[in-house]
Amino acid sequence: MKAHSRPGSGIGVDADAGVRCLRPGSSRARSARTRSTTGPLRLPFGAAWPDLFIAPFHHVGEKQLPEGHVIHRLAGAIGGAFSGRELAVTSPQGRFAVEAAHLNGTRLRGADAWGKHLLLDFDADGDHLVHIHLGLIGKFPIGPIAPVHGQVRLRLDDGVTAADLHGPQWCRLLGDQEWQSVRATVGADPIRPDADPDRAWQAVHRSSRPIAVLLMDQAITAGVGNIYRAEVLFRSRIDPMTPGNRLNHATWQRIWEDLVVLMRDGVATGRIDTVRPEHTPEAMGRPPRIDRHGGEVYVYRRAGRPCLVCGSLVRQTNLGGRHLFWCPRCQRRHR
Ligand SMILES: [Zn+2]
Repeated sequence: MKAHSRPGSGIGVDADAGVRCLRPGSSRARSARTRSTTGPLRLPFGAAWPDLFIAPFHHVGEKQLPEGHVIHRLAGAIGGAFSGRELAVTSPQGRFAVEAAHLNGTRLRGADAWGKHLLLDFDADGDHLVHIHLGLIGKFPIGPIAPVHGQVRLRLDDGVTAADLHGPQWCRLLGDQEWQSVRATVGADPIRPDADPDRAWQAVHRSSRPIAVLLMDQAITAGVGNIYRAEVLFRSRIDPMTPGNRLNHATWQRIWEDLVVLMRDGVATGRIDTVRPEHTPEAMGRPPRIDRHGGEVYVYRRAGRPCLVCGSLVRQTNLGGRHLFWCPRCQRRHR
């Protein structure tokens, strides 16, 4: 079996990612650590976009918000499918009908992501930005036009292809000024080249909250979810309960740079793999991880199992309503 292939199927389904990728194995075996933190962000959307569609998120154990890489992949898929095209914009369910009518027949300029926020920019008069947050159950699959199925808040269609938005937490039509107000509340997104990690640091080093909580605060680091926070803290050997104001700046920079590598890797591959080359199943001669919540990781959803580095049992606790995973032996650093 290949390192990261799912048992019994040639199709990889990323539960946390919410993205079903029909081209498994393309870059699965590569380690996130081997990639540059500064190189251009390589999006996988030059290939056939129908290979990407957003599937429902699985809720096993705890509800799982998609992490930021999923939204960036979605923005890439929608932009790749529809940018520059005049679209029929409708709301089959009716709840976005007035706004859809305003945009109907206009050209999509592009789609972009900030953390877990998706923004569609239409070439329309007045309010022209559709601001979407998928929340826990939202999905936005793209494919050949087919009859509307279920409650579709927003449908984009170019006569051949349609994208149907189901169950978003938000779907709102905004003007530039309103969007700027929203954007000002969104923290630094490690996937975005224009992110400002120093702004995040200003919030982190003034806070007595645990770094594990701060990383999940979307107003500080946008797009980081439960998997990336657990894994980046493990890779930096930081005790997750370390207060932000005890971290030094160099440690913060290391955490940030690692998030950039890991999360951009997630955009490129559609899954979350965080183990270094020496800890892959092949390198360690161990079976691949089997879990509906994603790829090869050190601690996430591995409670009670031996740490891949030291053999201690991975621990789990509830922190702010979310499960936190860490290795008590590897993660002892407080600075
Ligand atoms: Zn350990």
